[in-house]
Amino acid sequence: MVAATPYEFQHLIDEEYPPEYIITDYNQGFFPDVHAKLVGLPGKNLKFNKVVRNIDQSGDKVVVTTEGKHQYTADYVLVTFGIGVIQQGEVTFTPDLPPWKTEQIFRYQRGTIDSIFLRFSSSFWGDKEWIYHASERNDVDRHYYPVFLNLEAEGYYADSKMLVAFVTGEEALRVEGLTDGQVANEILAVLRSMFGAETVSTLEEIYVERWASDPFHYGLFSTWPVPSNVPVDAAQRLRAKVGRIFFAQQASDPFIG
Ligand SMILES: Cc1cc2nc3c(=O)[nH]c(=O)nc-3n(C[C@H](O)[C@H](O)[C@H](O)COP(=O)(O)OP(=O)(O)OC[C@H]3O[C@@H](n4cnc5c(N)ncnc54)[C@H](O)[C@@H]3O)c2cc1C
Repeated sequence: MVAATPYEFQHLIDEEYPPEYIITDYNQGFFPDVHAKLVGLPGKNLKFNKVVRNIDQSGDKVVVTTEGKHQYTADYVLVTFGIGVIQQGEVTFTPDLPPWKTEQIFRYQRGTIDSIFLRFSSSFWGDKEWIYHASERNDVDRHYYPVFLNLEAEGYYADSKMLVAFVTGEEALRVEGLTDGQVANEILAVLRSMFGAETVSTLEEIYVERWASDPFHYGLFSTWPVPSNVPVDAAQRLRAKVGRIFFAQQASDPFIG
């Protein structure tokens, strides 16, 4: 039984002996073609929208309990949740994972980059691909909406009337705590200061990513803290199996960070 992303699934499937997969399909917006292939597969081994809460290997088999108290039994389990999910206790293990494992899990950090998609009534920002904003705010706020991507630039989406703003690190965490309306007001003020109040057109739609608060990710990528106190064998420990449970998330890759 496996918790995997639909994207990973393509590489994992064994058609002769199909394993049972527990998959959240929240990525289907990003990978609609993969999702379509998954639902078209024969057999009933795919479990969509099952949120794993506990993995118990205290007995002879491994028992995975999902939200709603459904239980699935298997000989082995491959865990691909991001480390943030384990750090936040969204999934628990019975018995607890050993300290040599959890130490590494908690030493890693989750980094965040949030994109903010903005659709205006008309474009007003010229034809440059990247637009930079040098903030007048003090050092603490130096990442205040520092960069915008022009989605009408060549090679992107002509006539989309869209910009994408990016926020990272602590500034991303601050922005995630705001409502969409508050984010819109802040960005409009920035754009008006850059292009002039009369020039900025009506903001018709906004979509704010919130990866750090997303309970299926808690951040956008795994990374080593700076300054790093992560030992050289950290990735090995992260991907090492514990009994019948195997681990394969991004943080277990030795080249990450
Ligand atoms: C917008 C975006 C862009 C990125 N771009 C890049 C890039 O260009 N290059 C790069 O290297 N990395 C990129 N990343 C980082 C990316 O997260 C990793 O590269 C990769 O997806 C990590 O794989 P993973 O299997 O460790 O975790 P994930 O891809 O996060 O897979 C974990 C899966 O577990 C599921 N899950 C979580 N909790 C539960 C639960 N309780 N029950 C059941 N299922 C659960 C999740 O829904 C998810 O499907 C990007 C991330 C984002 C969000």
